[in-house]
Amino acid sequence: MIELQGITKSFGTLQVLKGIDLMIEKGEVVSIVGPSGAGKTTLLQIMGTLDKADAGTILLNGTEVSRLKEKELSAFRNRQIGFVFQFHQLLPEFTALENVMIPALIAGTSSSEAMQKAKETLTFLGLSGRASHKPAELSGGEKQRVAVARALINNPAVILADEPSGSLDTRNKEELHQLFFDLRDKLGQTFVIVTHDESLARLTDRTIHMVDGRISSEV
Ligand code: ATP
Repeated sequence: MIELQGITKSFGTLQVLKGIDLMIEKGEVVSIVGPSGAGKTTLLQIMGTLDKADAGTILLNGTEVSRLKEKELSAFRNRQIGFVFQFHQLLPEFTALENVMIPALIAGTSSSEAMQKAKETLTFLGLSGRASHKPAELSGGEKQRVAVARALINNPAVILADEPSGSLDTRNKEELHQLFFDLRDKLGQTFVIVTHDESLARLTDRTIHMVDGRISSEV
């Protein structure tokens, strides 16, 4: 599903990734942990094609992403990868339903079909009663679940999450973590989650420990 080989990345003179080799199978829920500055977010961004590695290869769902041209790459990213960030990054002027529709519209889905899919996705996540609310009218946990709905709408092969529960209280955190496992069980999605949350890391199928730009261990 995801195969990284020899990934390196520098910002100026600072080498942040020093040769990452990693294989993640379909349906795995993997956490990436490690001290601040270890390169976790940089690795996730490169895995998600939001940033480019200096060297190495990335195979995502059978596609070698460095071979794709910019336009093909953004279409590939929009269809194959869902992103969930620490702060929901919902657009404040749009309703929950409209926010969830956006990746489907970008993928070329008609607005009536995008609306239908967004409604179904929100219902699937227990949010049908919140569809017409704007982000400011949603609780923190609801906002993050709407962000998960937005990540899911194109039925991507993989969801990449960067500190997804970092802004949530304990109850909402646990609910969000449970949601990831439910989605994997029901839809077969692959999850890669950067987290400082040890309780989440303990639940995942595999934990990748990063230190100073390298994978130090996998358990
Ligand atoms: P944290 O747990 O604090 O989020 P992290 O392990 O996710 O840390 P990264 O965000 O990947 O670490 O950053 C790794 C290093 O790369 C840090 O020293 C950071 O300052 C640096 N860095 C990240 N992005 C850039 C950038 N766009 N330009 C310059 N330096 C960067």
